[in-house]
Amino acid sequence: MNNFSLHSLSTALHHKTVSAVELAQIFLARIEQFSRLNAFITVDSKFTLAQAQAADQLLQQTDSGPLTGIPLAHKDIFCSKGLLTSCGSKILSNFIAPYNATVVERLNNAGMVTLGKTNMDEFAMGSSNESSWYGPVHNPWNENCVPGGSSGGSAAAVAARLAPIATGTDTGGSIRQPAAFCGLTGIKPSYGRVSRYGMIAFASSLDQGGVLAQSARDAAMLLQTMSGHDPKDSTSVDRPVPDFMAQLEHSLAGKRIGLPKEFFGEGIDSDVAKTIEQAVAVLKSLGAIPVEISLTNSPLSIPCYYVIAPAEASSNLSRFDGVRYGHRAAQYHDLIEMYERSRSEGFGEEVKRRIMIGSYVLSSGYYDAYYIKAQKLRRLIADDFQQAFKACDVIVGPTTPSTAFQLNAKAGDPVAMYLNDIFTCSANLAGLPGISLPAGFDQKGMPIGLQLIGRYFDESSLLNMAHRYQQQTNWHQYFPKGYQF
Ligand code: GLN
Repeated sequence: MNNFSLHSLSTALHHKTVSAVELAQIFLARIEQFSRLNAFITVDSKFTLAQAQAADQLLQQTDSGPLTGIPLAHKDIFCSKGLLTSCGSKILSNFIAPYNATVVERLNNAGMVTLGKTNMDEFAMGSSNESSWYGPVHNPWNENCVPGGSSGGSAAAVAARLAPIATGTDTGGSIRQPAAFCGLTGIKPSYGRVSRYGMIAFASSLDQGGVLAQSARDAAMLLQTMSGHDPKDSTSVDRPVPDFMAQLEHSLAGKRIGLPKEFFGEGIDSDVAKTIEQAVAVLKSLGAIPVEISLTNSPLSIPCYYVIAPAEASSNLSRFDGVRYGHRAAQYHDLIEMYERSRSEGFGEEVKRRIMIGSYVLSSGYYDAYYIKAQKLRRLIADDFQQAFKACDVIVGPTTPSTAFQLNAKAGDPVAMYLNDIFTCSANLAGLPGISLPAGFDQKGMPIGLQLIGRYFDESSLLNMAHRYQQQTNWHQYFPKGYQF
């Protein structure tokens, strides 16, 4: 049962070949067996089994749904009532969420069973999961390598089959990049598709919740339930959610795929470049028509992102002051010192760096030169996409310039780390949906990700194209050695 799909798990549960409790026990045992990956921050088997028992009761009745009894893991950025919600930070290492994020609530209501909360870069800042206060996560394809970040725990968990599926969030690439590094299908929906209520904010205008899955079909199934307007999030968009599953099988004949010349230039690992070319050939064989396009300003997406994201982060993180929740320094003389100490002790190095950059670019005198400039650039980047989508339906390219790197290889070099997001963060700046899917392996046996970017609110085309590709190839069915059931 190495490549069980959500559909097969659902069938097994409804046919009573397995109970929700048994299924939860199988995965809880694996989480323990492979604890060396450090994929989870919190596992509470009592909590999990209680949810599984409730799911079994629903399965006895007729009102169970397709997801009832299916276990999943949540990135530790989503508030889960009664469970530690740390966001990978010491400052929240004592925070038991008093309410559920809308994403968690919707999946709970669908009868899903939470296996635990996954490890992540602190406050989702990072591309390797090394900034977590709970230590790095290991990539199951090569345990000396990083799983990507910031949703590294979710990616490692699904890749190692410690969970059939997991939630993640993506501010600049944090679903797609770890999906690429771990051989998974990861989708970041359009900004506004999935509620951010109860999802701890990093950069509010960029953050979006999504899915890390074994296939596009599984991703479609989970996204269907996660999506939709939420009155509790003023940035969630009141727009009908299409039936993603119903569109998976559509033909790709005549679909125009745009190949941005900026995504195929220098700096891309040759194995990655070759693999993406082969993937384009597969899409062509399915009837898609390649067209060359240009995203002229996309090379500037990294500097643009690294002004806007820290600016928003510096503001969002001001709420962590040791007063209302989270870590408070043990010793201080007055209020100001309490703030200073709590924050110096509670935040890690990368988070402090971002707060400093963000405060700098927002300070009077620099605001126009940096922040306003970056906002103008953001508009130009979005305009490039609008222009490109006149010539094509879906944009195709690599997810990352290279495959998973060794632990510690970039930890001391923030700029090298930031360059991981070169192909992903422009979609966040423009609010567009993006998906990464496995398209092959490099010579070292590490997975390579193919990225598809779609029009605003057109997740359906991405899931459809990814699914058709996965019917034609079996890259998504490989799983790391040593992790069989
Ligand atoms: N790696 C990027 C960063 O460090 C993106 C993170 C994310 O998408 N959450 O900001």
